[in-house]
Amino acid sequence: FQAIEIQREQEITIDKTLYRGVWVFAEQRQGKLANVAFELLGEGRKLADQLGEPLVALLLGKEVAGIAQQLIAQGADKVLLAEAPELESFLEDPYAQVIVDLARQERPNIILMGATATGRSLAPKVAARLGTGLTADCTGLEVDVAEKNLLQTRPAFGGNLMATILCPNHRPQMATVRPKVFKPLPAASARTGEVVSVDLSHNVWDVRAKILEVVNEVGPAVNLEEANIIVSGGRGLCDPKNFALVEELAETLGAAVGASRAAVDAGWVPYSHQVGQTGKTVGPKVYFACGIHGAIQHMAGMQSSDIIIAINKNPDAPIFKIATFGIVGDVLEILPLLNKEFKKA
Ligand code: FAD
Repeated sequence: FQAIEIQREQEITIDKTLYRGVWVFAEQRQGKLANVAFELLGEGRKLADQLGEPLVALLLGKEVAGIAQQLIAQGADKVLLAEAPELESFLEDPYAQVIVDLARQERPNIILMGATATGRSLAPKVAARLGTGLTADCTGLEVDVAEKNLLQTRPAFGGNLMATILCPNHRPQMATVRPKVFKPLPAASARTGEVVSVDLSHNVWDVRAKILEVVNEVGPAVNLEEANIIVSGGRGLCDPKNFALVEELAETLGAAVGASRAAVDAGWVPYSHQVGQTGKTVGPKVYFACGIHGAIQHMAGMQSSDIIIAINKNPDAPIFKIATFGIVGDVLEILPLLNKEFKKA
């Protein structure tokens, strides 16, 4: 009890006025910014404006100055540009080292990263070294302006409830955010901001791994997370061979193929197609849910789609609660009909 009391006393002494700024890690690969960087800037802009603090993008890489302006066009007030050969491809140690040093000097209030493979590996290391907390995989962010606290919402207990997590006594407040949850701002090339180069000339690099080769994976024709249209199939397709109906409609529409976990677990389609809490988070313009019940874990990954079209033979299936258009009927009859009609269009 004594130890807890001492810890509490120390925590309460944090002076929040010393911490200012919303930082967004601008993830890039081979000089191309990831969409999640723009999504975080869109949301970060809102938070920064509410707090009356600047929005700063952290851009790390080798010879990436050319893409800094894109971050300003998408909402950043300032870009902290850290360029070095050691930062060419993402490696946890040198990336964490640069961000931790900057955060110690500049004392940001909030640091946001994408819940991508990169962000998921970088954010915990940065948080641990800064001695602060981290809320992973957030799906919602708000601020309590009076307390300068970030309200970080994420699914908890297997997605059965949404928890809002606070980090009231530590700074910076850190969160990773799922891609496709937030919308980027429209790019405004006339926006102005400053690009500040970080002096790394005296850095003693902490590099324990070496990248020998970068191999670009030959992926499916349409990337699920980037797709404008997704046709997803679930257990309602009843048989693996019927999954071809989903694939045919996707081909006709130039869409990506998604799936529920039930379809993936049954081995009808690879895991890389799974949408939901333990799969991909998607936000297409149109999402077809074919024979998908609408479990909370599935909806967590697709409910921000602009238009949801659900096909299910059960009129009480929960997917209809979030569907823009619902078709009550047998998916095995309806998919060929839709395919035929879209082919005519
Ligand atoms: P079912 O629940 O079996 O639903 C099938 C639906 O098809 C029913 O609504 C039925 O009415 C309808 N149907 C049946 N036949 C027809 C027909 N001929 N025509 C039209 N409709 C028909 N799930 C995910 O999808 N993604 C995740 O990432 C995910 N993560 C999870 C994480 C955890 C920790 C847990 C516990 C579960 C997770 N799940 C996830 C599983 C989730 O709870 C559901 O079990 C799963 O989504 C069900 O898939 P489904 O809707 O295809 O199958």
